[in-house]
Amino acid sequence: MPFQALGLEPRILAAIKDAGYTEPTPIQSAAIPKIIAGVDVIGIAQTGTGKTAAFVLPMLQLLSRRELKGRRMRVLVLAPTRELVVQIEENVRAYARHLPLRVALIFGGVGERPQVEALRDGVELIIACPGRLLDLMERRHGDFSGIEFLVLDEADRMLDMGFLPGIRRIVRALPKKRQTLLFSATLSPEIEALTHEFLHQPTTVQVGRRSNPAETVTQVAYEVPRHLKLALLIALLQQPDFDTVLVFSRTKHGADRIARKLEACKITNATLHSNKSQNHRLRSLKAFKAGEVRVLVATDIAARGIDVTGISHVVNYDFPMTNEDYVHRIGRTGRANAVGDAVSFVCPDEHGDLRSLERFIGRGLPRKKLEGFDYTAAAPPEPPAPPRGPRPERGGQPGRGGNAGGPRGGGRPGGGGGRPGGGGDRAGGNRRSGGGGGRRP
Ligand code: AMP
Repeated sequence: MPFQALGLEPRILAAIKDAGYTEPTPIQSAAIPKIIAGVDVIGIAQTGTGKTAAFVLPMLQLLSRRELKGRRMRVLVLAPTRELVVQIEENVRAYARHLPLRVALIFGGVGERPQVEALRDGVELIIACPGRLLDLMERRHGDFSGIEFLVLDEADRMLDMGFLPGIRRIVRALPKKRQTLLFSATLSPEIEALTHEFLHQPTTVQVGRRSNPAETVTQVAYEVPRHLKLALLIALLQQPDFDTVLVFSRTKHGADRIARKLEACKITNATLHSNKSQNHRLRSLKAFKAGEVRVLVATDIAARGIDVTGISHVVNYDFPMTNEDYVHRIGRTGRANAVGDAVSFVCPDEHGDLRSLERFIGRGLPRKKLEGFDYTAAAPPEPPAPPRGPRPERGGQPGRGGNAGGPRGGGRPGGGGGRPGGGGDRAGGNRRSGGGGGRRP
C-alpha cells in the first residue's frame, strides 16, 4: 500500500518523500488510517518498526485540517527519556517541514527557562518527559486545556521507570475529550491496565510477534570467559564488518572502563549514560550519528529509543538484565528493515540467562567463535569487573529510577529539574522471572 492510500495530505506526502520513505512500514499501514479515523489506538511495536511516524503522520494530518495558527497547545507526547524526546522531535520536524507547526521539548537536566517561555508563547505540539513536565504544570506553566491528542510513547518503559503516578497527574489536567495513542513494545498486564485507565474504546494494532526482536537482525552469541570480554570486544572491532557499533554495558562505570580501553586502542568512541550531563549525552549521540566516532558505549536506560541509521552491530558486552532489555537493545540495529547484527557475550555463569532469553524470543542464538582469538588466555591485567546486581544505573541519584514496586519522591520521578530519562532502571516486576524463565541474580 503506498503512502498516498493512507489519507495523508500533499504537504505531508511531500515531507515523507523528502525523508526518502517509499512505502509505509506495517505498523504505519495499520495505525495511520485508524488514527485518522479518530479512534484511540494501542500500538504494540518494537523500536525500529517506524512507530514514530505511525503516530506523528496521522496527527499532523488531523492537525492540518484546521489552520495551524491558534498558538494553542493541541498535542502532548510523553516519552521516557530525553534522548527519545529529542528523537521524536527530529521526526516531527521532518514530517512537518511543510506545515507551520511549532514544537517545544520539555525535559529535565537542562535550564527550564526556554521551556517555560515556549509554553508561554504557545506551541501546538509538546514532546516531554513526565518529570519536568509535571513540575512545570504544577507551577501553572502552560495551558493544557486545549489538548486534542495525548501520545504515551514507550509506555512500558515509562511504567518501569516509575512514571505512572506522574503521568496520572498530568492526564488529570488534560481534557477528557481527546484522542489517546499508546505505544509499547509489549502488551503486559500492566500496560493493559493502563490502556483501560487512559484510553477510550481503543483498537489495538500489533506488528510482529509479541516481544519478537526485529526479524532483520542476525543474532549470535559468543561464549567468553568474563576476564576476556574486553579483549574479545577489541578483537571484534578490528573486523572490517564491525563498522558502526553500539556497545551495551550494564553499568556506567563499566561503560567508562570500556571507553577508556577503546581510547587506548585508538578506536574512536563516545559514551552515553546517566552520569554524563545532558549536553554531553546529546554530543555523544550527535558524534555517533555523524560518523565521527565508530563506537558508542551505552547503558540501557540512556540508549532507550535512540535512533541511528546504519548501526552495523549491537554488542551486548554485558548480558542484558531482562529479556525485554535485549529486545530493546537489538532494536537499535536493523531499524526499518535494514540489516544488522546483534552480538551477545555470554560468560560461563550466564548460560541459564541465555537459555531463558532464547525461550523468550522463541529462537536459539547460534554460538559463534572469533577465529584466532585465544579463549584460554590468562586474565590480562584489567581491573575487576563490576559486581553483578540489580538497578545498575541508580547509584547515587536519589529520587529517580523505577522500582516497579511503587512511586518515589512524592510520585514525581525526576521532577524539579531532575533527570527523568537519565537514571532509573526497572527492578522487580519485569525482571526475567516467570514466563521467560529463571530469575536473574
Ligand atoms: P522508529 O521505529 O519510529 O524509531 O523508526 C525507525 C527508523 O525507521 C527511523 O530512522 C525512521 O526514520 C525510519 N522510518 C520510519 N518509517 C519509515 C518508512 N516508511 N520507510 C523507511 N524508513 C522509515
